[in-house]
Amino acid sequence: SSTQTGIRLGHRFADDLPELSVPWQADPAPDRRLLALDDALAESLGLDPAWLRTPSGLAFLTGNEVSDGARPVAQGYAGHQFGSYSPRLGDGRALLLGELGDTDLHLKGSGRTPWSRGGDGLAVVGPMLREYVISTAMHALGIPTTRSLAVVGTGRTVQRETPQPGALLARTAASHLRVGSFQLARATDDLDLLQRLLDHAIARHVPEAADAEVPALALYEHVVGVQAELVAQWMLVGFVHGVMNTDNMTISGETIDYGPCAFLDAHDADTVFSSIDSGGRYRYGNQPLAAQWNLARLAEALLPLIDPDAEAAIPRAVAVLETFLPRYEAAWAAGMRAKLGLPAAADADLATALVTDLQALLDANHPDHTGFFRALGGAARGDVEPARELVLNLAAFDAWLERWRAAGPDADAMDRVNPVHVPRNHLVQEALDAATTGDLGPLDELVDVLRHPYEERPGQERYRTPGPNTAYVTYCGT
Ligand code: AMP
Ligand code: MG
Ligand code: MG
Repeated sequence: SSTQTGIRLGHRFADDLPELSVPWQADPAPDRRLLALDDALAESLGLDPAWLRTPSGLAFLTGNEVSDGARPVAQGYAGHQFGSYSPRLGDGRALLLGELGDTDLHLKGSGRTPWSRGGDGLAVVGPMLREYVISTAMHALGIPTTRSLAVVGTGRTVQRETPQPGALLARTAASHLRVGSFQLARATDDLDLLQRLLDHAIARHVPEAADAEVPALALYEHVVGVQAELVAQWMLVGFVHGVMNTDNMTISGETIDYGPCAFLDAHDADTVFSSIDSGGRYRYGNQPLAAQWNLARLAEALLPLIDPDAEAAIPRAVAVLETFLPRYEAAWAAGMRAKLGLPAAADADLATALVTDLQALLDANHPDHTGFFRALGGAARGDVEPARELVLNLAAFDAWLERWRAAGPDADAMDRVNPVHVPRNHLVQEALDAATTGDLGPLDELVDVLRHPYEERPGQERYRTPGPNTAYVTYCGT
């Protein structure tokens, strides 16, 4: 049984913030079957992968057999969805099993909860494996993210547009605290609750902020900084989150909630993948501003803890919020200089001009984002044709190439930061379709490739080839 392995699930969140959680249990899954497991992640958490594959391990991974002393809860939060405030969101189909050391162990698709509203509380194989694939790729790319420990088929049939096989995702995170958690605490008008949430967040994510003159402001500065870094990394790699609602933005700075997300094929600021984002609010090029908007909502929730006098609190919060775009720009520009292999000694004005001019070329020519940067590494070695082939305006590109190559780009350094492999939409879809009908082969192979994003795979060019240009997926993952 699970107790034999000595798993101890903590319950700090449940203890510290009972107002933001409801003790809850997962629905029993009729027929559990393991679809994916991250062995290395399991080991890093002190879980034995061999045991997780046994019936009692699967019972643990689905929340059907929790270890002694665990106190699973559904967590409450509020949030702005596409700009409109929803006072009651929360884990409508999820559950915090508890904390393994500092890491949350959480289930998605575990059944209805008091926050389910009209939803069925369930999840299906395709979208849960999609979160598994994309979060695994993000982690391998070095981008902060919640992680996917396992996907388990439940043996249930779940009604979506068509009947689908049910599944459940076991996910880990530095915490599941969101901007929306603070919005809910603030909306209760219970300052003691808001203070406890702040203390809990500080203890988990920025212990040094406890000693700051204004701890709430120190936490806010931290979140602004980690989100500036995170969104810069999304932009550099060509990731579109798709649903940057305030309930989907973490305090930790980890990417969370992989629904209608995808990676760019053609570079285009207007790219939208989500069929429900008709206004393009969360389009690729708008992500920095969407993040800034969310951070303004976090500031509003924190104001009473920044200063009881709102007149005094607002300018202090605004001063921090105003650091977001400069911090984002600095992180993005540093990342671009690395992608261009520009030596540290390169003239700063020249580097800035090269980055700015290349961005203009990308915006005008729409080359395949990932393929173009990887090909530039080849161009740094003198093999310019693969990069040139992706560009329409050759006169402008050749002029840029000459200036860039004169700056002495380091091709090997470029190959360490410009991935060969990202989860291409059409390949992800192909693997999920196969898995949904019972063939896990394509999924396992794709995950293996994505775990080594910088590794060339001779003979397996299909993994680096962009999809057809029509493959603008409108995928709303539930
Ligand atoms: P998301 O768009 O994934 O961030 O989800 C927004 C809200 O809808 C969250 O409160 C989810 O818990 C809830 N939700 C999403 N899918 C379901 C479902 N199938 N059943 C119940 N609640 C759901
Ligand atoms: Mg969500
Ligand atoms: Mg979701």
